[in-house]
Amino acid sequence: MYKNEPIFLQPVFQERIWGGKKLRTEFHYEIPNDLTGEAWVISAHPHGPSMITNGPLEGKSLADAWNEHKELFNKKDDDQGEYPLLVKILDAADDLSVQVHPNDQFSREVEGVPYGKTECWYVLSAEEGVELVLGHYAKTEEELAEMIDHGQWDKLLRRVKVKAGDFVYVPSGTIHAIGKGIVILETQQSSDITYRVYDYDRKDAAGNTRELHLERSKQVTTVPHQDAEVKQTEKVNGGLVEKKLVEEQYFTVYHWELNGQADCEMDKDFLQVSVVEGMAAITIDGKSFDLKKGTHFILPHGVRQFKLDGKAEFIVSHE
Ligand code: ZN
Repeated sequence: MYKNEPIFLQPVFQERIWGGKKLRTEFHYEIPNDLTGEAWVISAHPHGPSMITNGPLEGKSLADAWNEHKELFNKKDDDQGEYPLLVKILDAADDLSVQVHPNDQFSREVEGVPYGKTECWYVLSAEEGVELVLGHYAKTEEELAEMIDHGQWDKLLRRVKVKAGDFVYVPSGTIHAIGKGIVILETQQSSDITYRVYDYDRKDAAGNTRELHLERSKQVTTVPHQDAEVKQTEKVNGGLVEKKLVEEQYFTVYHWELNGQADCEMDKDFLQVSVVEGMAAITIDGKSFDLKKGTHFILPHGVRQFKLDGKAEFIVSHE
């Protein structure tokens, strides 16, 4: 099963108060409306599981594949763990709320879910001069609580400018917000637990504000903020330049730039692959599949060698 083909996946779209229409204009997806904030492109999460579009499991979800065909991911049949990762594309037509995510232990003990949320972002496009929030300036927990309670956002929040091609690593416990005008591909632990710290006092169409989670935010925020050190390395394989963006406890993420041809070895349990620019073909055992911007797939464990040909960029990840 899937020894010589990728497992192609269909994105699941999520409406958000801050969403827009770039998932249509830049990715040609058929989005449900002009407030589409997220495409969950590689997901086995119950809040939006991706469906498989080819091969023997066509029409099943990635979660079904994970639960019923562990061999595709090089796991044992009695492995009880849930699918570990989640890949999304986010279109921030407006600022996202300032938020923070818990770690694994807090998520298990307080929320009863298996994973916390460490995430990272590859900036696909960014309007001129846009900013995001990453970290804070409080030196102690008392100072953090005071600044939050008094709404001293300008004093508390650390703002950072970004441009297309930037990479941002956001460990659990980091206060963060994606700013208006940014489109990112996010690779994260498969979790949907978010504690909202500040939502710009926004109201939705019905006049409602979104819930804040101030106490939990204070409990899980790392104080003082520390910028995570990320060591990046680069490897050239034929026409493929493989840049490792981050390698950490939960995931390793790469940017691949393809210009021509490359023969590749699959030496991981499985790979998550998103085409973020251009067009290419992947050939496995003499069988070719067309890839273009917006295509997402998993290379399962059965695939051991593959060839890439074309001009394209990819974001690739594994556990
Ligand atoms: Zn987040």
